[in-house]
Amino acid sequence: MTDIRLLPSSVVNKIAAGEVIERPASVVKELMENSVDAGARRIDVSIEKGGTELVRVADDGGGIRADELPLAVASHATSKIVTADDLFDVRTLGFRGEALASVAEISHLLLRSRHRDEPAGCQLEVRGGQPGAAVPCGCPVGTVVEVRQLFFNTPVRRKFLRATQTEMGHVTEAFIRIALVHPQIHFALQHNDRSVYDLPAVDSWRERIVTFFGGEIGQSLIPVASDDGQIRWTGYVADPNYSRANNRMQYFFLNGRHIRDRSLQHALGEAYRGLLLSGRYPIAFFRLEMPAGLVDVNVHPTKLEVRFQDGGRIYSRLLSALRQKFLSADLTARVKPAPLPAGADPAGALDPTRSAQHRDELIQWAQGQLEGKPPSAGQASLDAGSSAEVARPAVPAAPPSASPAQQSRLPLSFDRAAGQAPPFRPFPDFGPAARGPLAPRPPQELGRAERGEPPHGVVARSGDEPFSRPHAASQLASSTTGLQVHNRYLITEDEDGVVIIDQHALHERILYEQLREKVLAGALEKQRLLVPEPVSMRPAEAAAALEAKQVLAQLGIEIEPFGGDTILVSTYPAMLANFDPHEVLRQIVESLMTGGGVPQRRDLLDEMLHMIACKAAIKAGDRLTPGEITSLLQQRHYYRDTHHCPHGRPTALVFTREELDKRFKRT
Ligand code: ADP
Ligand code: MG
Repeated sequence: MTDIRLLPSSVVNKIAAGEVIERPASVVKELMENSVDAGARRIDVSIEKGGTELVRVADDGGGIRADELPLAVASHATSKIVTADDLFDVRTLGFRGEALASVAEISHLLLRSRHRDEPAGCQLEVRGGQPGAAVPCGCPVGTVVEVRQLFFNTPVRRKFLRATQTEMGHVTEAFIRIALVHPQIHFALQHNDRSVYDLPAVDSWRERIVTFFGGEIGQSLIPVASDDGQIRWTGYVADPNYSRANNRMQYFFLNGRHIRDRSLQHALGEAYRGLLLSGRYPIAFFRLEMPAGLVDVNVHPTKLEVRFQDGGRIYSRLLSALRQKFLSADLTARVKPAPLPAGADPAGALDPTRSAQHRDELIQWAQGQLEGKPPSAGQASLDAGSSAEVARPAVPAAPPSASPAQQSRLPLSFDRAAGQAPPFRPFPDFGPAARGPLAPRPPQELGRAERGEPPHGVVARSGDEPFSRPHAASQLASSTTGLQVHNRYLITEDEDGVVIIDQHALHERILYEQLREKVLAGALEKQRLLVPEPVSMRPAEAAAALEAKQVLAQLGIEIEPFGGDTILVSTYPAMLANFDPHEVLRQIVESLMTGGGVPQRRDLLDEMLHMIACKAAIKAGDRLTPGEITSLLQQRHYYRDTHHCPHGRPTALVFTREELDKRFKRT
């Protein structure tokens, strides 16, 4: 420790910059906010190399007087507040007078401006905090700020810069947060001379939301409003058919400023309780308008967080507005079939026979892989880990007597006759020792059907012998015959009692285990698309996908940037051949972003397998034939963890015989 001394202003500015300017996106945010504060009608943002090379923001706002240019880049110099009292009545986005000074300290900054009352403009350069002389120049009314070589004199910060795409993802998110809430301003964003967004001014907020997030989200938006004379909420929430795996699609704006607030997110979550599956987050866009005096915005350097004087009131206003809305809108009636993928043939996609065929094909294909069946000839060329030609099998012919409804049914293609050996061939790198509970069980552990014995039936209730045959109970492992009720549950028995099975959950678990075996064996085929498929995503999502490029390639998904937020998918896992690449990639990226980084290959695999298994499994509501029921019940014993679906919900409930005896007052 040495003597106490005042820090030189360059150190002060670097410290301030450390708080406010984390990455190029922070510069974009500060400059755009200044332009909004200046009353601009049009704001153009140009970026080079994700902002590490150049951030340029030009506006047609009120401009800066020539003699004030040096002040604009001085620290603690602002035109937005005068006294400390003003701090509690902030009506502008900025007020700390630190941004330009901080940015100028750690970059090469050029500020050119012409005030609306002046005949000519003036410009000023600052390099690493060292201002040059202000020189007159010709320019239109408004301000241009160019920031080059950000962090050139702060190597530690520079080291933390990520790939161009990642930085651009953050820049775009910063752009969206400002452009979203000011639909009356024309905004444009360019990256390396390519236009990313060009958003002419529009009247309604909804229009701007749709420009960013698409018409599908737009159509799902439910308007919400509440006004108690002081606190005014307006906004939109998406109906529960649309949700996300993280809360990044929850936008809150307070008096035109994007904020993050846990309690507001919580209120939103509460309002959706019971409407979304756990782990899913609502989509919402909210503007909160309130007198500036009721909130302190001076608690966070970038003002991302604020402190409400009466947080409880704001929370409850939001929650009650949402609850009332949800009560009045019959949300259950809104549940629609899953949205069609872009470019899909609507007639075909809605045809249940066809979608069931897709499932059949997928499952049969996987079955062929599991059992080592030689592939049949196919349309697409597949690079199987090696480059073997593998193809999807033809759709199995339905029995001639089957009704159209029956034809569309999934014939549980992993079906194996009773008495056949469990379905696993040890894969070379997945030997019996590693397989633990998956290894074939000794015969005494197997169910009757697996031992080749005739299955027990579930007998109709008659007299004093409800549901099972007591004399057989001692030998019972578990039955492979069951009864389907309500087209969704199967009722069967095992040695403990009566078992009620959720048919979808069980089938999902079985498919999941089967696919996982195959994938772990390293036999993941990829299919090269004849024409690479462009998938457009949100910028941050595109960045996340590209960052995980290597991992995705291991999964058989090869992607390339295709300019802007579009990604080209050139190969695709063959087992996903029947699913829409947009949807699959979007779901994968969602899980990537939720994890906050590049997940392990295993996690991604798991995520994908869950997805396929869920999509391919029979659904609640599918009527099953006795053969299908038997097949499903048999397979229940071949896999581990079949008592839970991959999401962790139980697949079966057991009512023990003791319990039944007690209820029937037999004991
Ligand atoms: P703050 O925005 O907190 O006041 P800044 O360092 O961002 O601090 O800007 C300093 C001052 O420079 C602002 O108060 C404003 O007067 C002026 N200024 C900055 N950018 C612009 C702009 N685009 N148009 C007009 N004036 C600007
Ligand atoms: Mg500012």
